[in-house]
Parts: sequence; C-alpha cells; structure tokens
Amino acid sequence: MSEISKKKVLLHVCCAPCSASAVKMLNVEYEISFYWYNPNIYNEQEYKNRKGSAIRYAKELNISFREEEDFLYNYKNWKNKSLEQCRLCYTFRLEKTVIFAKQNNFDFFTTSLLSSPYQKHDLIKQIANDLADKYKINFLYCDFRPGFYEVKNLLKQKGYYMQKYCACNKSYREMFDNK
Ligand code: SF4
Repeated sequence: MSEISKKKVLLHVCCAPCSASAVKMLNVEYEISFYWYNPNIYNEQEYKNRKGSAIRYAKELNISFREEEDFLYNYKNWKNKSLEQCRLCYTFRLEKTVIFAKQNNFDFFTTSLLSSPYQKHDLIKQIANDLADKYKINFLYCDFRPGFYEVKNLLKQKGYYMQKYCACNKSYREMFDNK
C-alpha cells in the first residue's frame, strides 16, 4: 500500500527550543526540514552553542538540517536593536529561507521565530507574508507559541542549550541591564 506523501516544509530554525514547539505542531502532517541561517547572533561561542543544539535536535528527530553553504559569520555588523533593526533582522533571515525553499521545491516555508513569546510575532508574520507574495511561495503561518514553555522545559531536562538573550549585541547587553 502506498503512503500518502506529505507536503514539504522548510522550517527556518533560530534555536532548538523554539524549533521544538513548531515541530510538535507540524510533524504529523508535514515533512519538515530545518534551515539554519542566523548571522545575527553575538558572539561566536553563542552562535556555536545555538547551532550545535539545533543540529543535535535535528539528529534526535531524524530531520534533515540544511544551511547556507557560503554563509559568512557577520554578527559584528549587528550592533543595534530597534524596531527597524528587528525588521531587517527578520527579513534578512527569512528572505534567505524563502529563496532556499524556492530553489529546492519546498511546498511551504515557515519559521521557529513564531514560537517565541519574546519575539515580535505580528511583525514576523507580516514580513513572511510579504516575502511569500514577492517570491510566489506558500508561507505556512502557525502560532507556535502555545506549548512553548512545555517543550522548552523538556529540552532543558535533556541538557539542550538555553539562550538568555535574543541574539544581537544590543540584546546581549540588555540582558545585563535587566538583571
Ligand atoms: S533584538 Fe533580536 S530580532 Fe531584534 S535585531 Fe536583535 S537579534 Fe534581531
């Protein structure tokens, strides 16, 4: 008996804990691939921690992990945090995701950024919708936030890396200001 093939979704992943919430909602109905492109992360060790954790999670779930091959690590260019900077930061990452999804014949793209209660959810949704129109590709919008803390805690218990700030230099400094 032939299996009904699932639609392919390229999931831009910002980190393992946010990915977990998205995977939980999507993996029954869709075939998910992770896509890593996050040159906004300050600093190098933090970048390695987050990426390593996302790779470990993909392996645990037997999900393919894709990334930008000619990626240049450029966190030093990310100095500010403002609404405009966040808009650029989301656009920069999602546009690469959309282009990759188009080039590799995915049915949909989406992002684990829609999992975090700390992100600007409506802005991310708007940018993704605009990119979907621009590149003529389907954006799979889901609010992954319900259940975020539950799956995040499960990963924490398994020893996955848990970041303490959004990603850029400014959000890193704010972490200390808010203590
Ligand atoms: S706060 Fe987060 S989303 Fe905004 S610019 Fe910094 S890293 Fe990007």
